[in-house]
Amino acid sequence: MSGEYLAPYAAHDAASRGRRYPEAAPELRSEFQRDRDRIIHSNAFRRLVYKTQVFVNHEGDLYRTRITHSIEVAQIARSVAVALRLNEPLTEAIALAHDLGHTPFGHAGQDALNECMREYGGFEHNLQSLRVVDELEERYAQFPGLNLTFECREGILKHCSLKHARELGELGRRFIERRQPGLEAQVANLADEIAYNNHDVDDGIRAQLLDVAALREVRLFRAQHEAVTAAHPQLSERRLVHETIRRMVNHVVIDFIRSTQAQLEAQRPHSIEDVRSLAQPLARLSDQVQEEHLELKGFLREHVYRHYKVLRMTAKARRVLRELFAAFSDDVNLMPLEHRDLARRAEAAHGAPGRARTVADYIAGMTDRYAILEHRRLFEPSERT
Ligand code: MG
Repeated sequence: MSGEYLAPYAAHDAASRGRRYPEAAPELRSEFQRDRDRIIHSNAFRRLVYKTQVFVNHEGDLYRTRITHSIEVAQIARSVAVALRLNEPLTEAIALAHDLGHTPFGHAGQDALNECMREYGGFEHNLQSLRVVDELEERYAQFPGLNLTFECREGILKHCSLKHARELGELGRRFIERRQPGLEAQVANLADEIAYNNHDVDDGIRAQLLDVAALREVRLFRAQHEAVTAAHPQLSERRLVHETIRRMVNHVVIDFIRSTQAQLEAQRPHSIEDVRSLAQPLARLSDQVQEEHLELKGFLREHVYRHYKVLRMTAKARRVLRELFAAFSDDVNLMPLEHRDLARRAEAAHGAPGRARTVADYIAGMTDRYAILEHRRLFEPSERT
């Protein structure tokens, strides 16, 4: 990508803070294209196919999984990045990697594992995504993990507790000093929220947890729904819903680009360092759309995430993960040999917290269906082991 195309405040190869293990520059790609390509070839990325977003993976083939979610985030983030003359491959890399550390069973899984790990430093999925790309992937001869650029790693580490930030050195410093990551990271972050709010409307309708009449309480939905109905009074229900959601995403994304452009004009950053030094992110929605977006989020919380069918599913998921964690922590010999060996070594070096972390790594890496299968193998007397 030519330097002229990129805005001065974008991430440039030449200004990268580099990789943990120095490497020669790639031949016919940029540094950030290389990051993206490594993420796509990772095992953790492939496993996202069978990890849940909200609905458990086996409930139906049309629901989003973490991989389709990550691709939708990347699509939205890339559109915004191009409009703002940011580094598109870096934005895409961050979006594709942002959920690599997610446990099976969506947020229910993350909460359960965090509870299990409370005495041992907790479990944060953002931190786990970083751990996957820094440590857990085993693909390259010269280094552990994927050895991604600093810019990509700072984007993957969206949030982080202060306690962990202090242990992360340079990468954690911005959380302590309340500074920002580069704009590519900010864009990927906001694109994540836009993607899941809108696709949870779609999946919620498909699962029959939401209906259009109830959704019309929500301003973002109602405005687009009215516009589509007025322009196309004969439209079938399915096309009406899809057209409405399409326009909702478009409406929010246009606002995202315009509001961020306005911030850029007001603040006039000349480099990625200027972007990083600001107290507030530059990537944002207008106050009006931000408020509408929050309204949609609140509506989804009430009608989808707290729907009894979803709560039953998340209760089951929590139980499965808690029981897996307890069984493996009590006796690491129940884990497959490779994980058992890692647990033994970690315990010898770091005691009980080391052992617990390897159990959490094993569980976090599982897909939904693998976690269910492991649970059956451990607890069902008639299941093969
Ligand atoms: Mg996400």
